[in-house]
Amino acid sequence: MARNSKAPKETVHYTIRPADLALHLFEVRLTIASPDPEGQVLSLPAWIPGSYMIREFARNIVQIHAECAGRKVKLTKLDKHSWKAARCDGPLQISYQVYAWDLSVRAAHLDQTHGFFNGTSTFLQVHGKEALPHVVDIQPPGAGRDDRRDDDSDDSHDDARYAHWRVATSLRELKARRHRFGTYIADNYDELIDHPVEMGEFVLLRFEAHGVPHEMAITGRVPNLDTDRLTADLKKICEHQIALFEPASKRAPMDRYVFLTLAVGDGYGGLEHRASTALICARADLPVKGQATMSEGYRTFLGLCSHEYFHTWNIKRIKPAVFAPYDLRHENHTPLLWLLEGFTSYYDDLTLVRTGLIDEKAYFSLLAKTLNGVLRGTGRLKQSVADSSFDAWTKYYRQDENATNAVVSYYTKGSLVALLLDLTIRAQTAGKRSLDDVMRALWRRYGRDFYAQTNSVSEASAANTPGGRGVTEAEVEALFDEISGLSLKALLEKAVRGTRDLPLEAAFEPFGITMKDGAKRSRPSLEARTRKENGDCKLAAVYEGGAAHQAGLSAGDVLLAIDGLRVTASNVESLLGRYRLGDTVPVHVFRRDELMTFKLNLKADSAPQYAIESSNKPVAAARLRKAWLRNRG
Ligand SMILES: [Zn+2]
Repeated sequence: MARNSKAPKETVHYTIRPADLALHLFEVRLTIASPDPEGQVLSLPAWIPGSYMIREFARNIVQIHAECAGRKVKLTKLDKHSWKAARCDGPLQISYQVYAWDLSVRAAHLDQTHGFFNGTSTFLQVHGKEALPHVVDIQPPGAGRDDRRDDDSDDSHDDARYAHWRVATSLRELKARRHRFGTYIADNYDELIDHPVEMGEFVLLRFEAHGVPHEMAITGRVPNLDTDRLTADLKKICEHQIALFEPASKRAPMDRYVFLTLAVGDGYGGLEHRASTALICARADLPVKGQATMSEGYRTFLGLCSHEYFHTWNIKRIKPAVFAPYDLRHENHTPLLWLLEGFTSYYDDLTLVRTGLIDEKAYFSLLAKTLNGVLRGTGRLKQSVADSSFDAWTKYYRQDENATNAVVSYYTKGSLVALLLDLTIRAQTAGKRSLDDVMRALWRRYGRDFYAQTNSVSEASAANTPGGRGVTEAEVEALFDEISGLSLKALLEKAVRGTRDLPLEAAFEPFGITMKDGAKRSRPSLEARTRKENGDCKLAAVYEGGAAHQAGLSAGDVLLAIDGLRVTASNVESLLGRYRLGDTVPVHVFRRDELMTFKLNLKADSAPQYAIESSNKPVAAARLRKAWLRNRG
């Protein structure tokens, strides 16, 4: 929807500028025309939506002070992320510096090459004013600096060096040209913090997906980047997903969309927003001009783009009720991340095969990798995906060496739940219904009008923010039966709240797909994850039930010798390969620098290594499979 870009009367107004690039400081000025007469409360979020961990962004506020009509006003700290200004008639001005040196998609980063920020790291929430329009003046380095400085040793304020910096964001321009510094606007605080901002000298790719302008800004040096190939591939992904949710109108849920990509030596990550995403990738994963093959790195990058783009529907608009609105001060527990992250993980790679970016064989090998990964850990036998979702804040996001034995991933197992449901619905309705229909129904009923609705505000609610009420677990589950015409309650119960392995082999059968376990069980295995540390072989994780566990070895142990022969990070496999299953050998380790000896009873790895393969017979199976993997975009 095109909006009128006239300045509204009462706004919350911010100015943000890179103040010291070498010290990684943004300076923010916040003006509140008519502050709360009882004393204005301000706070910074404790977490960023999409990343379910308490991060306490306020710890990066270095200095903060307040003025009212030119006079200094007292700010009282209320808790780790909130302040209260002394009573004043206004306008109240808050000035603060934000330390920005977190090279991730979750916070803020600033140096001489670029600046990046999420509003959750930089924009204080003005309590009671969240529903007002929020205006941000985004300024370049050097703007508004104090000209009285006589210290000219710092040349980071040399404006000419940053004359080519541009701005990439999905925030709406108020008084700014596209990609320029200037004034931007959001309808409310919830929207303000949902449009990250990149500034610097980025490469800009542009394309349209079903008539909607899309961009990718790539920051970081990437020699010989094949921009044509990347643009064409992204367009396929975006058009496919728009058509998946809106097959008739092919209408995208946003006016424009921006991929903000930071290319680094080694990195991987993405965070979804309503009309953009922030990505970090390895430079080597981006396509090189003249190389047409699909490298594993590029496929992974396209999978990441596909994943974050799918969130535009699934989590940014189809939201769990507890996220409508978010409580930015505390953990927001939901049992539904298996749907929001798991199903998104299912559709990310499925989009690649449906659009022809990867072939069926490559897709099945990705499915097998996911399946084998889930089956590796015994955490899957203890925690359901619903519980894993609920406890994401303290378990999935805070994994330690025991995670494999205690936690199941709502991403990977959640994607297998989606696969199981999709295959089941397709097989039992002879291809008439599918998970696509369920996603579309979720979208129409709970997602499409999310930002057009107004949330009823309880007194305890942190933000009186416009938005729908979201969807409950019961409503999601009821939709499966309603849309498929089947009775899937028992299957869902087992898949979502159960801990038994999913019956995928049977679900594949009507599609002519087989799972074969090709694990080599002739060689001994420690069943432990090892890590190289100063050339030593250190146990990073010990898998429950394996030889290392049964011998009494522990994560953190440094392996010194097996059967009196020295172990290094590079020879452990070949050394074990000299023994037969059933042999018992002594193992020497250091634990807290104390030498310890254990008896290792050698046995084979118990984890399966499935390969997933398809056959074109019978014809009915091939037909079902082709309909599943077909592009409808
Ligand atoms: Zn995700």
